[in-house]
Amino acid sequence: MDYIYFKGPSEDMSDLVDIKTTCSICGKIDNCFELDYALTNEFNQNEKEGKVGCYACLREGKFGFWHDTEFGMLDENGLSKVYNHNMDNPPAIPQDLLKEMLRTPRIVTWNQELWLTHCNDFMIYKGTWEQKDFYSNSQNGNGRKLFLEMTNEDLLHLWDESLDEEQEKLVEWHATYYVFQCRQCNILRGNWDCD
Ligand SMILES: [Zn+2]
Ligand SMILES: [Zn+2]
Repeated sequence: MDYIYFKGPSEDMSDLVDIKTTCSICGKIDNCFELDYALTNEFNQNEKEGKVGCYACLREGKFGFWHDTEFGMLDENGLSKVYNHNMDNPPAIPQDLLKEMLRTPRIVTWNQELWLTHCNDFMIYKGTWEQKDFYSNSQNGNGRKLFLEMTNEDLLHLWDESLDEEQEKLVEWHATYYVFQCRQCNILRGNWDCD
């Protein structure tokens, strides 16, 4: 399964059925997503329960997924401001990018995904990072510095909070950190949530 905006592992795809199964829309056997919370005109709200849709049907737009993004809440009607983290005045995003995003799986998260944006585009979801990944991806091994650069102000406290007084290197925290990369400028950003 190849997506422009989702380059993380398939385990991180929300509603993905873990074995290949028969698509309720086209009848082919392939990787399928549960349609209970999907956007689709193929089935009405009551019929959707227990139905699945395959990768090809997703890419053809037979169904799609809403996404909570920094630009706004995206559904078949476009972007709208629902939460504080949605922009008041998002930039005009080309229709083909909105369509691509609707045809992208949601991320498995503890609460609700927040898809990050940069350079007037949705960012590419890369997967989750642990503390060691910040050290290994940083220049000169300063994992804390990289974390602070990638993370919005309201979420910055995680690193220092997770560090014991005696510890120099952070080895564990209670959160899941989601990493995104800009398609245009390659900058890394991320956010986290926990159970
Ligand atoms: Zn199908
Ligand atoms: Zn950028």
